[in-house]
Amino acid sequence: MVTAAAPAPVDGPWENAQRQFDEAAELLHLDPSLRAVLRQVRRELLVRFPVKMDDGSLRTFEGYRVQHNTTRGPAKGGLRFHPDATLEEVKALAMWMTWKCALVNIPYGGAKGGIVVDTSKLSTRELERMTRRFASEISILMGPESDIPAPDMNTNPQIMAWIMDTYSMEHGYSIPAVVTGKPLGIGGSEGRSTATGRGVTIVSVKACERLGMKLSDTRVAVQGFGNVGSVTANLMAQSGFKICAVSDVAGGIYNPEGFDIAEVMAHHKATGSVTGFPGANAVNNQELLELDVELLVPAALENQITARNADDIKAKLIVEAANGPTTPDADVILEKRGVTVVPDILANSGGVTVSYFEWVQDLQSFFWEEGEINNKLERIMVRAFKQMCEQADEHRCSLRMGAYLVAVKRIADATSSRGIYP
Ligand code: NAD
Repeated sequence: MVTAAAPAPVDGPWENAQRQFDEAAELLHLDPSLRAVLRQVRRELLVRFPVKMDDGSLRTFEGYRVQHNTTRGPAKGGLRFHPDATLEEVKALAMWMTWKCALVNIPYGGAKGGIVVDTSKLSTRELERMTRRFASEISILMGPESDIPAPDMNTNPQIMAWIMDTYSMEHGYSIPAVVTGKPLGIGGSEGRSTATGRGVTIVSVKACERLGMKLSDTRVAVQGFGNVGSVTANLMAQSGFKICAVSDVAGGIYNPEGFDIAEVMAHHKATGSVTGFPGANAVNNQELLELDVELLVPAALENQITARNADDIKAKLIVEAANGPTTPDADVILEKRGVTVVPDILANSGGVTVSYFEWVQDLQSFFWEEGEINNKLERIMVRAFKQMCEQADEHRCSLRMGAYLVAVKRIADATSSRGIYP
């Protein structure tokens, strides 16, 4: 009897991040000893800590903070609260942060953190106690000059405020620059909450220009409708794209004629999900990826586009708003099929760029207006887009490798300028 071969297992984000780096290191002819340093993370902290629950019981949580590299400045990266968070995933996200900050040329290294938790099962008071205790546990790494967290999946300005308060109380005075993505009233920045989606929109427009795609003819599917996905869908619609599908963890909605995103946002706000939007066809998250659209924006989790579905993607352009949504095996297939992928380390770098503006404003206690912030963001992203394309064209490689060439070279040059201590 002949049985069908089982599909090859999909590697985890850490293996994928290392593979991407290895490919870039090869193209750059990077010195093998520096290669060995950069393909590992510098510091990884695992913490287990008790939290008093509302019913008086104690529950132990596991969390992580990882710093991949700090050669170009303090470690920077978000905190993810997710039931499937792992140390390996956080290591990958930290490495991607290093390349992202280097690519947009802001003076930060890369970090990431997370807690293994389903926040939907916690009360607000439990969430606050867990966040504060975690902040205290990782404060041996955290600090405005050393390691600056920010929001990521299932974390938000309120959570950043609790972290800022905890850190400040432990030091005896307010230290707003210890986290970014805070509420405006305590040192947050104008434009931060929309920055990642704004950046995704800016590079989507640039990518369409490069490919000769007219915005009004570009149908878009966005997977994920959180901070990044919803802002992206909204700003892309305002820029003239036609948003035909959006989704969240509960499922997706599709209308080939395009949605009024303001109405979808209102429905999401009222019901907690995009599903059930009147007049839309229901699609699941796998189907959404394979819809007949020109542009696909994954804005949820890693490993969504793999060797298993890369052949079925109809979009000719993918802009990675999420971190690590496309595996290296899928990249090979997409490249062969002529699908252009704007890599995560550029596409979602608007968030960390405006986080950098927030940190600078906090350190100087002098705040800028939103128009100024959006203009500075656009300048930085357009410059990075251009540098990525120049490298990709020169080396005849993918945009992802073009972006890596710019980023990894900056880290290598910085390492060589600083030298090795002692
Ligand atoms: P979020 O928690 O605000 O939203 C996540 C969204 O994804 C929600 O709509 C959720 O329902 C949906 N989702 C969760 N699991 C899903 C699944 N299995 N299938 C489909 N949808 C699912 O998070 P966010 O801040 O919008 O982050 C989304 C992605 O963007 C992540 O990869 C994150 O690392 C990346 N990112 C975020 C920022 C930022 O500033 N927040 C910056 C850079 C990159």
